[in-house]
Amino acid sequence: MNTKKIKGNRQNLRVNAERLWNNIMETAKIGGTARGGICRLTLTDSDRQIRDWFVKTCESIDGTVTIDEMGNIFVRRPGKDNSLPPIAMGSHLDTQPSGGKFDGILGVLSGLEVLCTLNDAGYTTKAPLEVINWTNEEGSRFNPPMFASGVFAGVFDRDFAYAREDRDGKKFGEELERIGYHGKTKCGDQKLGAYFEFHIEQGPVLEVENKTIGVVTGVQGQRWYDVTVTGRESHAGSTPMNMRKDAMVACARMVEAINKIALNHAPLAVSTVGLVEVKPNSRNVIPGSVFFSVDLRHPNDAVLDEMDKELKVMVDRVATDTGLKAKLESIWNSPSMRFDEVCVSVVRAAAEDLGYRHRDMVSGAGHDAVYIARVAPTAMIFIPCENGISHNEIEKTEPEHVAAGANILLSAVVAYDKAELGMVRR
Ligand SMILES: [Zn+2]
Repeated sequence: MNTKKIKGNRQNLRVNAERLWNNIMETAKIGGTARGGICRLTLTDSDRQIRDWFVKTCESIDGTVTIDEMGNIFVRRPGKDNSLPPIAMGSHLDTQPSGGKFDGILGVLSGLEVLCTLNDAGYTTKAPLEVINWTNEEGSRFNPPMFASGVFAGVFDRDFAYAREDRDGKKFGEELERIGYHGKTKCGDQKLGAYFEFHIEQGPVLEVENKTIGVVTGVQGQRWYDVTVTGRESHAGSTPMNMRKDAMVACARMVEAINKIALNHAPLAVSTVGLVEVKPNSRNVIPGSVFFSVDLRHPNDAVLDEMDKELKVMVDRVATDTGLKAKLESIWNSPSMRFDEVCVSVVRAAAEDLGYRHRDMVSGAGHDAVYIARVAPTAMIFIPCENGISHNEIEKTEPEHVAAGANILLSAVVAYDKAELGMVRR
């Protein structure tokens, strides 16, 4: 297919940037923190509140709302031929415990803004359009992340997801019921003609290179592990150094070594220990056990295999050296993913059409688009965020960048629809 010819949006449609920005600021109050961030963990009361706001707002513009059995929300705007699979836009409304105002919700509210813009212009697409909120993208409360889009794509079983527990032992399925978003539609039943996800970059590259739009060609591979080190609790004053089984000391050696694993595979590898729980977590007790998380990422799965091996060997070695027990569990493996070439070129063509400085890039972060790419032609659009900082209350992006990205989303969807790609390719 000659993608050079894909130029839709000849009507010069543009989103209402002020309305979009106001919606972002208005919804930031739901779960808003004193330091200007958001704490909207999945399936909490604040997640219910933002969902209620979203559903009410979508219904007020005549969107048809469907909720599936994973709590994913689908908002449909009919097209001229409603037998066609919808062209979808979306992202997530949940956040990290100290998240920012843009991660996730930007893509959902921009999808809503695309529908509003088309309503205002009286423009009807051939295929229906859909805006989607995927449940539990962040994985901060229930891991692994993105498992609702994962169930949609057939990567995880629904019942596996329902049984996942948070650190307090509450089950995903029960919490979904509790907030009233356990829908009836079977997850994964709907076919999508295409999927476009607009998101902040969450890294520094666009800002450093003074580019407005990232044309995302794929997402790097990612692996998650849980590690539990077991030693022996004893008195911090009366236990001699040579008679201790200090789980925290073993943990510290492992954390240092995990950092080195990524440095050994520089510059593309990254590794992080972001969650540590020490027991009993008391000033004058030698830690008897430590639980911590490991996150390894690289764009090349073969390198990730190497890093995986190095991690396993290292954990065993530290356990032997310290005489402690260490259990390493692999809890999630998300292979690297290349997005659909046609969808990517539609996004690139839109950036050229609208005259934005852009570059191709691979996403360092995981996104629902990774799973949806398995079942529908998919692409992503990035905009810069200040200093590349995300998963942080100070996360910030400029209004003109938000407007630019939303206009690319609008143009890409209209172009994809006009070229009848959804029809040709399914
Ligand atoms: Zn996100």
